[in-house]
Amino acid sequence: IDGTAQAGIHAYLHLNEDDALAVAAEVDRLRAAGGADAAALHPLAGVPIAIKDNIVTSQQPTTAASKILEGWMSPYDATVVQKVRDAKLPVLGKTNMDEFAMGSTTEYSAYGVTRNPWDLERAPGGSGGGSASAVGAYMAPLALGSDTGGSIRQPASFTGTVGTKPTYGSVSRYGLIAMASSLDQIGPVARTTADAAALHELIAGHDPKDSTSLITEWNDLASAAQTRDLTGVRIGVLEELQGSGFSEQIQQRFDEALQLLRDAGADVVAIDCPNMSYALPAYYLIVPSEVSSNMARFDGIRFGNRVVPEADSTVKEVMAATRAAGFGDEVKRRIILGTYALSAGYVEEYYGSAQRIRTLVQQDFARAFENVDVLISPTTPTVAVPLGEQVSDPASMYANDVATIPANLAGIPAVSIPGGMAEHDMPMGIQIQAPATRDAVAYRVAGGLE
Ligand code: GLN
Repeated sequence: IDGTAQAGIHAYLHLNEDDALAVAAEVDRLRAAGGADAAALHPLAGVPIAIKDNIVTSQQPTTAASKILEGWMSPYDATVVQKVRDAKLPVLGKTNMDEFAMGSTTEYSAYGVTRNPWDLERAPGGSGGGSASAVGAYMAPLALGSDTGGSIRQPASFTGTVGTKPTYGSVSRYGLIAMASSLDQIGPVARTTADAAALHELIAGHDPKDSTSLITEWNDLASAAQTRDLTGVRIGVLEELQGSGFSEQIQQRFDEALQLLRDAGADVVAIDCPNMSYALPAYYLIVPSEVSSNMARFDGIRFGNRVVPEADSTVKEVMAATRAAGFGDEVKRRIILGTYALSAGYVEEYYGSAQRIRTLVQQDFARAFENVDVLISPTTPTVAVPLGEQVSDPASMYANDVATIPANLAGIPAVSIPGGMAEHDMPMGIQIQAPATRDAVAYRVAGGLE
């Protein structure tokens, strides 16, 4: 990893060079020796990977970009890390992110911003800006991210990379520091659809340690990405999203992509999903509600930093001081919002309404997928914003996620691929969504369009 690029972009919070080089050397030795051991190597063996810092690693620190976890070491590896290590992918390091994955620009990291490799004055997106920038800047060929409302796809779109939010339950969440457990999903970031699909296939599969992981086979993803044939594929364009304020050039690139799909033999039709426009407000009630519960474990007693104000402080005082010092503003904002949305007297009106909208969004998708194989849209309304522009305006930051959130609410897979350059000579992304467990279809269309 080039030190200057890391200094300029700050994709990594922690580098793991010695261990990565040792794994790479071992793969070289096995390949050179030939025979059964070499033949048994995974196709991705020796391909380095970067890991988002909310995925726990026993060999390196894990902070989720929060002060509250500074200096903490996980006693175990996340299942995805175990799989990556077993397949002998050298782990390059842990990547920067918004604190506990709450944010859309990586500016909410407690350890400094990450810059967009295409324009250092712009954000790389978030929360997985570090993983996307590492791949976009050629500092890692592969990375793992996590996507609760777009945190893999939106940064991928902003950095000209490919990113997937898998079907909920496709990839084990064991060892992913929970943000909103009913939405979180680990997924791949890569430079091509084929690479993303190959990594997805490696990390997917049932895990007895995650009771929400599906008992499904995922062995057709890499081959689907290489089909390169779109004849007869039915593609739906979400009418409701057309009014979501997509910038002029993003809309142009999207229209060009639709034409490419038609030229390749796909049928492109308009699809009506009337409840899609309620997805964003519903998400920003459901997420803080789950956040307020998930953040309760960071109490200064069990993990990481502890602030003890006085020698005779009570347990409650220690917890309050630890959380006051350890959490950033956005995390606190969501804990307060979520606690309010769940409080007696309001829970039906806020959390209950949001859950009902979630069901309506799921039903919209189910109806849409009776008529089409995939749904397609731009991944984000705009290209990457300048650093500092949205950091003090949470509502404008939340609006980034309008096209990515519905897939999380419905648990369906979505792949973002580069769709060309838009405003300010910045990359834009095109998102392909498929029915739950049909991740292969999303990869087929993504690969065909690429
Ligand atoms: N930007 C969204 C949020 O802040 C998405 C985050 C994510 O997917 N982790 O909630």
